[in-house]
Amino acid sequence: MKGSRLKFIFFLPALLLYCLLPMTGAAAQPKMHVVLIDPAHGGEDKGVVSDKLREKDLTLKIALLIRQEAQKKGNLQVQLTRDSDRGATLAERTAAVARFKPDCLVSLHVNAGFGKKAAGYEVYFPGFRQTVAGGGDSAAILKDMAKNKHLNDSVSLAQQIQAGLDKVFPRKGRGLRDAPSPLLDGLNVPGLIVELGFATNPEERKKLVEEETQLAVAQALVRALQAYFQKGP
Ligand SMILES: [Zn+2]
Repeated sequence: MKGSRLKFIFFLPALLLYCLLPMTGAAAQPKMHVVLIDPAHGGEDKGVVSDKLREKDLTLKIALLIRQEAQKKGNLQVQLTRDSDRGATLAERTAAVARFKPDCLVSLHVNAGFGKKAAGYEVYFPGFRQTVAGGGDSAAILKDMAKNKHLNDSVSLAQQIQAGLDKVFPRKGRGLRDAPSPLLDGLNVPGLIVELGFATNPEERKKLVEEETQLAVAQALVRALQAYFQKGP
């Protein structure tokens, strides 16, 4: 009796440790983060066209490179709203969010200016319009709180992406922008729009069509996503 009790005393801490280890993550697999990348435009919808650069091609190329680079990391699972030159409606892109249930969404675009001068990348997060919960409806308040959390997360991801892209396009950041977007507004996950640069700026266009730049952009975005998840959204 005494012996088995003694054994139990030794066994108990071991059992506790065994149960607690997965919680601390020490023995667990790295957590998989799902990211939905949305290469804007596609198919008939070419997006911005300037000289040899077509927005729909560039966004797709970079999205495919992001998926390729993320595969090397082991803790990022990248899904795409399209992986070929086909159009996708807003409803189809939104449906992809429901299907893949990503931890965040990044939509890729290329900008156009009226003249040749405008240059630089921009990161947009969803426009914040506080909805006033009518009569203290708790469901509406909870929805607002979740929206606030997603907004904070979107801003923190935007900051990481800005820091990453600044290494590829030094001093070309045009700042974080809060703007309404049909894709981001109805979103129930953190989401951003990244305008990679201006196709209408000859210097920037030349850089954007280089494979070296495209890979550097993809790698910068993957690093930014990793940093964002590491900090804990
Ligand atoms: Zn676009």
